[in-house]
Amino acid sequence: MPRERASKFFVFVIFVSVVAVFPPPRHVAAQTSRSKTMALTFDDLPKSQGTADLEGARRTTQSILAILKAHHAPAVAFVNEQKLYDGIHLVSERVALLRAWVDAGVPLGNHTYSHVDINQVPLRKYENDVIRGEKTYTRLMRGHSTVKWFRHPYTHTGPTPEIRAALDKFLATRGYRVAPFTIENSDWLFSAVYVKAKEAGDGALVSRVRDGYLDYADAMTTWFETLAKEDFGRDVPQILLIHSNELHTDALDALLTRLERRGYRFVTLGDAMKDPAYRTADEFIGTSGPSWLHRWRVAKHLPDRMRDEPDPPQWVVDLSK
Ligand SMILES: [Zn+2]
Repeated sequence: MPRERASKFFVFVIFVSVVAVFPPPRHVAAQTSRSKTMALTFDDLPKSQGTADLEGARRTTQSILAILKAHHAPAVAFVNEQKLYDGIHLVSERVALLRAWVDAGVPLGNHTYSHVDINQVPLRKYENDVIRGEKTYTRLMRGHSTVKWFRHPYTHTGPTPEIRAALDKFLATRGYRVAPFTIENSDWLFSAVYVKAKEAGDGALVSRVRDGYLDYADAMTTWFETLAKEDFGRDVPQILLIHSNELHTDALDALLTRLERRGYRFVTLGDAMKDPAYRTADEFIGTSGPSWLHRWRVAKHLPDRMRDEPDPPQWVVDLSK
């Protein structure tokens, strides 16, 4: 082999060897194909069920925050102030759970003091619950974020036009921005069964519930993607509503991985809402709390499709009772 060609050959061999030993990281290829966006929101902080079990609540908090960091996923999280109390006194260890979210860069929002339902109480009482819900999380958020996020418990926004209008006005006057959601997946239902299975030491059921949840979450994502295309003729940035719970302590990593494989990358709630779709009026009035992809259909004069939504598996519903 002539000298020049030989040296070219060796350069080629070295190049091939380097590529073989250091292949381009897989996530680079995955990220370039991630064209869809999603914002994550967590409700019922510090933890949906079992905040009194401090060890468990810490595990949930640390796990969720580590997974969000690993997936470069921003989020907003909504607090029930009442869960910070032992009945009378504010428990500093529970406040520390909230501080962990703030320290991890997750803005906190108001989800009312006692998870009150606008369908069940007079407006004045609801408004007082919103104000009581501000106490601790606003102190922790000082200097961190300018947006005052609010999420209605049960995403019930008002059963009559009068109550809806008055509540909207109250929230706006107090400076709140309502956090909509487009996708939910009954994670709270699966988590209730998951907790029971764990307590019973039933490992097979624990796995079955976890896998069942991930499959249902997939089905619901598909369903809401279809609805978005019906509403707007295109994909829209989705907003996922899930909870800080036992299920996500163990299953959030797999959930986010599946979403990434579907082509999602995670964005802030504010960025998702910059899409013009979010300027569509929410003219829904009623006692249920549907996705904004359903609500927007009212203003768009599209037929109601709430009944077409896939139900969670019957065995999960049965085991939750
Ligand atoms: Zn809630």
